[in-house]
Amino acid sequence: MSTGRLHGKSVLITAAAQGIGRASALACAAEGARVIATDIHAEFLKTLAAEHAGIQIELLDVRSDAAVAALAARTPALDALFNCAGMVANGSMLECSEADWDLSFDLNVKSMFRMTRAFMPAMLAKAQAENGSVSIINMASMASSIKGFANRCAYGATKAAVIGLTKSLAADYVKAGLRANALCPGTVDTPSLRGRIASAADPVQAEKDFIARQPMGRLATVADITPMVVYLASDESRFVTGQTLLVDGGVTI
Ligand code: NAD
Repeated sequence: MSTGRLHGKSVLITAAAQGIGRASALACAAEGARVIATDIHAEFLKTLAAEHAGIQIELLDVRSDAAVAALAARTPALDALFNCAGMVANGSMLECSEADWDLSFDLNVKSMFRMTRAFMPAMLAKAQAENGSVSIINMASMASSIKGFANRCAYGATKAAVIGLTKSLAADYVKAGLRANALCPGTVDTPSLRGRIASAADPVQAEKDFIARQPMGRLATVADITPMVVYLASDESRFVTGQTLLVDGGVTI
């Protein structure tokens, strides 16, 4: 009987109550991982825990230093940390408020700094003790240093920062058994995307526009993205670090 590609591994995921994070929690659990699914949304987390016995849920606001430190202190060393939390602030340079800019950087980038510094020491010790590798997966986007998109001033800047952060981690710890990679999806059909479509002046046109920028002619589903998360969390990717892994339906061909 197969035990799964992540058998024996523990994987912590932020923003796991819905969207890509939730689907990743279920995909990792299905491959045998012990998953710690974290989010600020208690009700959605409860329904996630009900879906798979291998998922432990924890309320966690990744913007809180104290909450992140407290969770790290009571969590056994992880094999993989998926920093998925992030938000889109709509708007160009002249439309982006300073508050949106600051919130975007705190949630999209500084949360990764917080989480990684809190969980990494135990992960490094684990990698050394097992003479293996541990994995940090940071959620970036094709909208980053990879490609510019209209109305994504703060978002594109934060996701470019995520790529820089990921490469620096990879460079500093490549000899210590820690791998760090950035995941760069195209446009994925998630609750947050549905919210952006619904809040557009013309939602029907907005959805058509999102689809039109995907050369494959459709939005990604969360199931298009999760195989890359499983791969990066698993030993199959043991020789892969410092990379930006695009799953974008051909946008950057
Ligand atoms: P989503 O809106 O569907 O889910 C976001 C989750 O984040 C929610 O469960 C919410 O409760 C949680 N959250 C919000 N603030 C939080 C906080 N302070 N601490 C912890 N959790 C918090 O999101 P999604 O569309 O699946 O996006 C997930 C990630 O993927 C983001 O980083 C996003 O930028 C990135 N991404 C999304 C797309 C896309 O098209 N959907 C494309 C590329 C990258």
